[in-house]
Amino acid sequence: MAHCIVDTAESILDREIPVLDKGFVRLVDYMGGDERVVQSARVSYGEGTKTYREDAALIDYLLRNNHTSPFEQVVLTFHVKLPIFVARQWIRHRTARLNEISGRYSVLKDDFYIPASEDLAGQSAGNKQGRSDSTMESTEAEKIRTILETAQKNAYSDYSTLLEAGLARELARINLPLSLYTEWYWQIDLHNLFHFLKLRLDSHAQKEIRLYAEVLFDIAKKVAPRCCSSFREHILEGVRFSQKEFAELRRRLENQQPEKTKQENIEKTEDTLSGKELERFEEKLRKGRQI
Ligand SMILES: Cc1cc2nc3c(=O)[nH]c(=O)nc-3n(C[C@H](O)[C@H](O)[C@H](O)COP(=O)(O)OP(=O)(O)OC[C@H]3O[C@@H](n4cnc5c(N)ncnc54)[C@H](O)[C@@H]3O)c2cc1C
Repeated sequence: MAHCIVDTAESILDREIPVLDKGFVRLVDYMGGDERVVQSARVSYGEGTKTYREDAALIDYLLRNNHTSPFEQVVLTFHVKLPIFVARQWIRHRTARLNEISGRYSVLKDDFYIPASEDLAGQSAGNKQGRSDSTMESTEAEKIRTILETAQKNAYSDYSTLLEAGLARELARINLPLSLYTEWYWQIDLHNLFHFLKLRLDSHAQKEIRLYAEVLFDIAKKVAPRCCSSFREHILEGVRFSQKEFAELRRRLENQQPEKTKQENIEKTEDTLSGKELERFEEKLRKGRQI
């Protein structure tokens, strides 16, 4: 009951998982796992762990019903190397603890992010915040990469010149670009990590931070696989409907499915709802009817 050791998490501890051209994520430490979520949820009844199936059902229930505090009992500490423009998006998530390398204290490394040619795309016409799906033609892409690289080299060379001239590190750094890599230790509990992942795995998030989110999610799966699978089912892949959308869904279902249609007649696939899941879905539809 005391210290949770999760073998799959132990196997990746301290291992750098590469992201982008020079970045990485490394799991430094973790506290708890699926078992800790179950223990803390059951503490009020004084009951210990039950069978794997019951534990999995409990985790699923907690997540489905927004009983989030047991997930806060699982904590992960990551060491991350990331470009500053990714860090600026990342740091908007306030519910974590963080220590970043200090450019006042240390000389910053000559590490800059240059997007791969296939990641260079024009401005999206439909999304003011994003890039389009069509990538740049290869000679144009190489030209852009050269422009980026030259500017980065010049900025770092100026930084070195200013340091050599005796300027304080805290001032010498101020012209360094957003593509410079920084590093930090980032500690977050599983509930808040899920919130981060929901936002940053979304297709609207910038590709570079999405790639980090994918690695964080893979690591979280090693620490708390059952929790991650329920998160995927109910939150990540779940969809929230507005009142009007819900009414439309109900109308379409009623038009498509005459009342006499029996659920047994529908060919079952992995995605087919049945049993309790079907009951819960119908309960949601009934709830929508009362609005
Ligand atoms: C695709 C995308 C585009 C974005 N574009 C922009 C942009 O253009 N400009 C911009 O400025 N930001 C932008 N953001 C950042 C966004 O507005 C949020 O700041 C960021 O996603 C963090 O979300 P959060 O506050 O829910 O997370 P967290 O800070 O991790 O907070 C988690 C939850 O804790 C609660 N919480 C935390 N702190 C407080 C508090 N002080 N008071 C009350 N509740 C609190 C809230 O319920 C919150 O949802 C963007 C984010 C995404 C994902």
